[in-house]
Amino acid sequence: MSSEIRREIRSSIDENRDRMLSLLADLIEEPSVSGHEKAAQSVVVEKLESMGLDVDVWEPDVEALRDHPGYFDTNTYEEHGYDDRPNVAATVEGTGTGRSIALAGHIDVVSVTEDKWTHDPWTATREDGRVYGRGACDMKGGLAANVFAIEALRDLGVELAGDVVIESTIDEEAGGTGGALSALERGYRPDAAIITEPYGVPNVGVASAGAMYFQITVPGTAAHAAHGFAGVNAINKAVDIVQALADLDRERKSRISFEPAVNQYPDAEGEVTNLNVGIFESGDWPSTVPDEATVECRIGWPPGETREEVREQVREAVGSVVETDEWLADNPPEFEWFGWNANPHYLDTDHEFAQLTKRNAEAVCGADGEWTGGLAGLDERFYVNYYDIPCPSVGPTGGRVHGADEYVDVDSLVEVAQTVALTAVDWCETA
Ligand SMILES: [Zn+2]
Repeated sequence: MSSEIRREIRSSIDENRDRMLSLLADLIEEPSVSGHEKAAQSVVVEKLESMGLDVDVWEPDVEALRDHPGYFDTNTYEEHGYDDRPNVAATVEGTGTGRSIALAGHIDVVSVTEDKWTHDPWTATREDGRVYGRGACDMKGGLAANVFAIEALRDLGVELAGDVVIESTIDEEAGGTGGALSALERGYRPDAAIITEPYGVPNVGVASAGAMYFQITVPGTAAHAAHGFAGVNAINKAVDIVQALADLDRERKSRISFEPAVNQYPDAEGEVTNLNVGIFESGDWPSTVPDEATVECRIGWPPGETREEVREQVREAVGSVVETDEWLADNPPEFEWFGWNANPHYLDTDHEFAQLTKRNAEAVCGADGEWTGGLAGLDERFYVNYYDIPCPSVGPTGGRVHGADEYVDVDSLVEVAQTVALTAVDWCETA
């Protein structure tokens, strides 16, 4: 593609940025906390239809997804089901036989603690080169950039040889099995995909850590506290187990590295894995020896270990306590893996599409980017792990993601739309 057309694409996106921001504002104004995505999805549908596209709207089919190795019941599915929680996709048909691309993102956002906001979380407030609002950065901004990138190409009369699919999916904050995975299983399996999560263009996200939950139920024997000799205190037993988990966590932190995540979060150096004891429940009365304690944990693990290897380490840590405790040896704790269950992913940075995306991001920004990675489970993993589809992330800069006064930097959002448009043109080629 000639450098003149590239310049035209970039300047058209820059000059018409208000159209992208108006879509972003409409999206922010429809609260779409995971489980309640429908109204915001209607905004996406309306926009895509106004571009003359046929829009596919569907609700996830859990029975069809359940056998997939990447599937688990998300907590929002358990709470709300998937009725009235549509995914949305629209295809811009290519005019030739070029490679296809998906431009994808999630419409759901996390909830809001209203009193900490100095702006209305459900109104897009534009101020000092930023847009404030829940989801502005994570990731309604990226969604708006995807749509606008394609709108801009069409307005310029740029026809691509390969198909472009624009996707807006649900459920990502809870695990994405009803969203991104459902879209892939519905048949949207492009030759490459970009997810515009807020990695801070020109950085390009290529990796994520896995995450699992587990629960340990530790038995004791109830007794009057005055007759402690007649009981077994489950809290004391559980504390020994928590201590062993903390030792394992320290040992893992000292040996595991994950460079892409440190590029994204320098403070994560030496702490790229975390075994978090999140819930400890036991007892109801100071005068009773508690007869049961439950401990719930999340363990995150960077690429490099299998799920089974990580589970084995956890089981061994708990086993080391059980072996040396007469009571626990005879009354072993119950162990259950539940909820979040995401494998880590890593996209080879030598992949042609990863290289192309980064080159365009750097050209648009006039600066060098880093290969970065996330420490939580991300939708990109489904594409890379189960379908061998290269799926880097390039997205805006911003701040206070998941916090009060979340914002996105407007110039970076323009750069994302430019990067996405140029990458689609290079990958799909012009007719
Ligand atoms: Zn996100």
